[in-house]
Amino acid sequence: MRFQPPASHYIDGQYVEDTDGATIDVVYPATGERIAQLHAATPAIVEMALNSAKAAQAKWAAMTGTERGRILRRAADIMRERNHDLSVLETHDTGKPLQETLVADATSGADALEYFGGLAASLTGEHIPLGGGDFVYTIRQALGVCVGIGAWNYPTQIACWKGAPALACGNTMVFKPSETTPLSALQVAEILTEAGAPNGVYNVIQGYGAVGASLVTDPRVAKVSLTGSVPTGRRVYAAAAEGMKHVTMELGGKSPMIVFDDADIENAVSGAILGNFYSSGQVCSNGTRVFVHTAIKDAFLARLCERLETAKIGDPMDETVTFGPMVSENQMNIALGYVQKGKAEGARLVYGGARLDRDGYYMQPTVFADVTDDMSIAKEEIFGPVMSVLDFETEAEVMARANNTEFGLAAGVFTNDLTRAHRVVAGFEAGTCYINTYNLAPVEAPFGGSKMSGVGRENSKLAINHFSEMKTVYVSMNDVEAPY
Ligand code: NDP
Repeated sequence: MRFQPPASHYIDGQYVEDTDGATIDVVYPATGERIAQLHAATPAIVEMALNSAKAAQAKWAAMTGTERGRILRRAADIMRERNHDLSVLETHDTGKPLQETLVADATSGADALEYFGGLAASLTGEHIPLGGGDFVYTIRQALGVCVGIGAWNYPTQIACWKGAPALACGNTMVFKPSETTPLSALQVAEILTEAGAPNGVYNVIQGYGAVGASLVTDPRVAKVSLTGSVPTGRRVYAAAAEGMKHVTMELGGKSPMIVFDDADIENAVSGAILGNFYSSGQVCSNGTRVFVHTAIKDAFLARLCERLETAKIGDPMDETVTFGPMVSENQMNIALGYVQKGKAEGARLVYGGARLDRDGYYMQPTVFADVTDDMSIAKEEIFGPVMSVLDFETEAEVMARANNTEFGLAAGVFTNDLTRAHRVVAGFEAGTCYINTYNLAPVEAPFGGSKMSGVGRENSKLAINHFSEMKTVYVSMNDVEAPY
């Protein structure tokens, strides 16, 4: 098989296999061809990974931040050198076009390794002067063994967005990728070893949800960082709470994008395309509820459909292809099911809507107009290339409707009115907001959700607070005064 790794798991600096584990077939979404076969972790493998991470942690944390940072930055350099090969692997694992994976996956992972590698040496506590010469100092400490659990849409990126800040702070990690896309996290682990990470610092084990669940409840684990759906997040958060573990939850969304009548229509259409069809719509922060002012609705829809005609759908390994297959047959069927629901509930299909007559899990980019707030396609996360366009008249009305959702991951506004842009963004109930653009997620900026879309933030300096804790040390410079 074309992309068969040496073994399923990477523990303590080497590949490990246990063929007793359930079989995981890795399928190339563009053809349905099996490209690798792995095994889910057995309890013995889970035990081995946690023991390795636990044993490595104290020594890793005792290294200076400069030393840890150097290893992370070296890993970033190796990832960039291998970007092409890693992108080809990611394209086969996910089906995303090579045109995308070349610029958005290993490169984004490398950015995280470089950024947190750069921060590692500057992580400190503080000195707090008190009365009478007493003072407090704080020591920033690693949490211990951290578990990362990933979704299938950005496997390399997720493995690094969780691993890089965890390792920078002196934690070790056991990472479980989605069983749909298990290959690239193994490459991240190999690269970290090559860059000088001691054995056991970053381990990868494969498996279905049950493997993730067994990691979350283990007493050796101090923190769980999950990227996944809201239902899974709810389960994992509850399980972690039993052990009072730290959590970061990066969950789903149904984000609004508002296009006012003074917006630059070309830019708004570009934003709507990026925010609905990049990665075949399989992006958590997508702006899938596109509210367009009635005065420009026809112009917006006309230009959107014109631009969609120029999408090149096809073999994701062809670098000119801009729209690839969905990650799996199951995910494609979920999205196609929503197309049927949209039609049945009275939305007007203005573009796409069909599966393509070819091998692989391809469906057309799809646009519904005249969508109303009560329709399933406007309320539920689809996680596929299905855009809902909704009409609106006033700012007050659209703000209330935009926020009328349990989700709060992202939100965007297109307008040329400066004060309105900032007023609207201030009113959004969402963790990540955009003015006149959409879906950018640079490592320097916090990323995460409000409401049911999550807890905590990834990226930026804020991620450090989610992978470390403060020890407070009170120092007395005076005699101790006791009442008796
Ligand atoms: P899932 O929630 O189905 O799974 C996420 C991960 O959790 C998988 O590795 C899964 O394993 C694992 N898992 C499932 N059940 C448990 C459990 N009880 N305990 C521990 N781990 C468990 O999400 P998908 O993989 O289908 O990804 C799509 C979802 O991810 C979407 O809702 C999307 O919005 C969200 N997402 C959020 C992002 C964000 O940053 N906010 C970014 C990307 C995606 P297995 O797959 O084997 O079941």
